[in-house]
This record gives sequence, C-alpha cells and structure tokens, in this order.
Amino acid sequence: MASSSGARWRLACDRCDASAWVGVGERGFDAWCEACQHAQSLNAVPDAASRCARCGTQLSAAPRFVELWGMLQHLDAVLAAWAGDATPLATLLPERPMFLTDLNPPVAEPDDPAPLRAQLAALARGDWQAVRAAPAMAAGSVPAVMRAHAARAIAHERAGDPAAAITAWGQALAVGEDERARLARGALLARAGRVEEAREDLEHAGGSFAARWSRAALLVTAAVRTETPDAGAIGRARAEAGTRSAYWSDPTVGRLLFSLLVARVLATDEREPRHASDAERSLLRAAERELEYETFWDRALVLVGWVRVGAPDEVERVAQPLAHTEAGALAAEPALTGTPLAAVATALGAALRAIAASEPARARAALADALARADLRRFRIPCVRCGRGTVGVGEVLEVFPAED
Ligand SMILES: [Zn+2]
Ligand SMILES: [Zn+2]
Repeated sequence: MASSSGARWRLACDRCDASAWVGVGERGFDAWCEACQHAQSLNAVPDAASRCARCGTQLSAAPRFVELWGMLQHLDAVLAAWAGDATPLATLLPERPMFLTDLNPPVAEPDDPAPLRAQLAALARGDWQAVRAAPAMAAGSVPAVMRAHAARAIAHERAGDPAAAITAWGQALAVGEDERARLARGALLARAGRVEEAREDLEHAGGSFAARWSRAALLVTAAVRTETPDAGAIGRARAEAGTRSAYWSDPTVGRLLFSLLVARVLATDEREPRHASDAERSLLRAAERELEYETFWDRALVLVGWVRVGAPDEVERVAQPLAHTEAGALAAEPALTGTPLAAVATALGAALRAIAASEPARARAALADALARADLRRFRIPCVRCGRGTVGVGEVLEVFPAED
C-alpha cells in the first residue's frame, strides 16, 4: 500500500522509552494493541476483524483509550441521574440556541468611507464599545449605510443590549430589505417573546439553515403555549426545518419540543419535590416519541427531563438501558481487556451487575475509584513495559508526507 494522507499518533511512556506509532505508515498501517501494548505492522487500516498477533484483542485505526475517562464520566452522570441527581448529566448536555442568527461582521468594500472601514475593523476585532460609540453615517451608498447599521446592531447584541440591537436592525431595514437583518431582528424579537413581530421578520429571512430553523422553532414555541401541542403544528415545524441533522449539538424539532415541555412543567409546578401529573407525563411521553434520534445525547436529554419533573418510574425506564449500553461499551474497550486496567474491568463488571439489579447508587460506588484515576483522567493508561509510567498521545501528525 502506498502512503497516503491520514492522521498518525505517536504514543509514548512518561517514565521509560516505550513508544509506538498508530496510523498509516510507509508500508501499510502501524497498529498498537491497547491490551498488551504490542506494536505491529498491518497491510491495511484495521477493520472489525483485525486482531492483535500476540493476544488476539481487537486492533483499532486510532487510539481509543483516550476516550475511556469521558465514557466513565458519561456513565457516572447517567447513574447519578438515575439515583435522582440530574446535575452532572445536565452539565454535559450541549446548550442548543433556540433561535439561530448570523452575527458575522460585514466585510468592508474598497470604496467604503474611512469611518465605516474603521467601524468594521473595530467590529472584526471585537471592540464592541468603539463600534457602538461611532457616529451614525450621515450619507453614503445604500449598501454602505446598511453595513454601518448592521455593524452597530451586531455590536449591541454582542455587548448584551438586545433592545438597542433590535432598533439598529430596524434602521438597517428602513434603508432597504435585507434577509440577514430580518433573521437577526426576528431571532431577537422571538427571544423577547414578541412572537407576531418575529414571525413577520422571519418570513422575510430567506432560505438559509438558520432562517428555516428559526421559523421552525417559532412554530414549536407557539405549539407548546397551547394546552396540548398540535401535531399539525409540529409537522409544519418539521417541514419548515427541512433536512435534519444528527449532529449531537444541532437543534431538532423533537429535541426542542421535549425541552420546552419540560420547562413548561417546571414553570407551572412550584411544589418541591416535583411530581409530574398523569396528564403531564402522557404529554412528555408523546414528546419523547417525537425525538428523531437515539443518541446518548438524546437519551440523556430525556433522562434529565424526567428526573427534573419528578417521575421516578420514567427515570428508571430510560436510565436502565442507557446505563447498560454505556457500561457495555466501556467493558468492550480493548484497553480494558489488558492486565494494567484489570481493576477497572472488574469494577465495570460489578457496575453492570448493579445496573441489572436496578441499583444505580451501588453501580456508581463501584466505579468511583476508576473515575478518580489520575492516568485515565489525563487520557493515559499504565505502561506495560515499565509498570510505573503511563502511555499517552505525545504527538499527532495530521498528514503523512507523500513518498517521492
Ligand atoms: Zn495484544
Ligand atoms: Zn513505561
């Protein structure tokens, strides 16, 4: 196999001279077994059938052990939520903005007047105060005046003054129609709860992903204001949003609907601890079925919601399979089949048994030592050769140089 582009990782021990490369090499693929730490050459990038020549453990195309601590952290957060504390898991969830906008600085044109060029340069370097303090442009071409208003609007929003930003976008729109200004003002109005004005702006905001998503989010927001969200409105929101994204931190109609309904339950129920009513539970179960994906992040979103509204049996229903999946994935990690991490593998076995017995606190206790390990926390594993140091990624090369 000829050399080609691809990442290469150099692994090294911090106490002895043990080191190895993982990645496409000059003559095939340099592999490294994470269980017995034996370096070996393959003819091609490892696939599911590639095994270590020495111990038979699965070989991987990239270092996997660097993920161990993150996986443990996820599992621990799921177990904490199952046991009633949603905070660790909620902290891991991505913040998905409800209404999207475009606050990229406008680009200066060669014939822009000097004050405008200075204003745009200040915006590009993040000096919001200089942009906000600049006098309004007295005269100029329509595009130049619009860029000046847009610059001030963006600086106002970045500086945390949405009311001033709404006014400045309005000044831009008074000069001429502009999809970006419509989107930006529409998103600000929607966030302020001025739904009718927001809808009017967003209808003129064009067909960008941000514009389509913000229109969809407005439909979902309106649907959640009614007693029982109308399936037709949710369908229209899906049609408006268009192609959905599975990317973990992207917004989707299902993710937004479930989050807003949880927020609604929390806003209308002052009792502590909370106990969701039967009607609220059935509404949330219906919203759960609207979720588009079964990723860890989606199941975690649902789990946090059920914990917060106080529905222990729903928590158990969601948490048990999620914890089982996460623990199973960890137990299958090649590094955990090796001797140096045998204690972690044993702890995981105990955690899996506690999960099967629906005892999240016991599962969590079983994993406490593994989660506290300094090596895993630093994305490193114990070195087999010296038994004292730890092996980690010392260097990453993005592109392997071509042979001449
Ligand atoms: Zn091996
Ligand atoms: Zn070593």
